[in-house]
Amino acid sequence: MKEINCNIIKDILPLYVDGVVSDDTKEMVEEHLANCEECKKEVGLMKQELNIPAEKEASFIKDFKKKWRNKKIIISGLSIILTGLILLGVFSFVFHYDRVVPYAEALIKIEIQDDDMLVSHYYGVDYYSISATHPQTFKIDGKEKKVIFLYYTETIANSHSKKLIGNKKPRDERDFIFTLDKKKNVDVIYYVEFDAKEIFDNGNDWSTLLEDAVLIWEK
Ligand SMILES: [Zn+2]
Repeated sequence: MKEINCNIIKDILPLYVDGVVSDDTKEMVEEHLANCEECKKEVGLMKQELNIPAEKEASFIKDFKKKWRNKKIIISGLSIILTGLILLGVFSFVFHYDRVVPYAEALIKIEIQDDDMLVSHYYGVDYYSISATHPQTFKIDGKEKKVIFLYYTETIANSHSKKLIGNKKPRDERDFIFTLDKKKNVDVIYYVEFDAKEIFDNGNDWSTLLEDAVLIWEK
């Protein structure tokens, strides 16, 4: 008797699962399901099948979310790169953008070492670079003179008045003394306060340097 009942119930189950049966039929099916594991399983399977389209939709949404997340990863990757570039720019500006240190008597002194060697001694906290020419002959006030031009540069990080990064090592004065040439090879030394980089690099317009240079040492 139970088997017949099960077959009848299984015939009705699709309708029951779809929710299109009358209340009486529904009651009857539920009474049967309460006592029959097999039909209960059947209902479970049917409901799972019904759920598949919904799951597919859900997985589509997941896919979309995943793609969007990938996009977000790309966007945040780009912004990390951008931030990096900006930081690099700031870094270069602070550490490598150099300008000429204005001349001051107390800051830059020409001294003589070992009786015959001219050196430039820097008394500031720090500098970035020094550029100096070899002695060159110029006619100054009708006299031929052997001239050295020099200038120091500083950056925000390495400046004559302050050091951005603290240096725990004691100051080694040798780092601040630059050997120029033998005294006998030089008549005058000029400091060029303006940006003379181009003239220094090309070396073709020295006379313009003379006009604005500051005489800092004379034999
Ligand atoms: Zn049954």
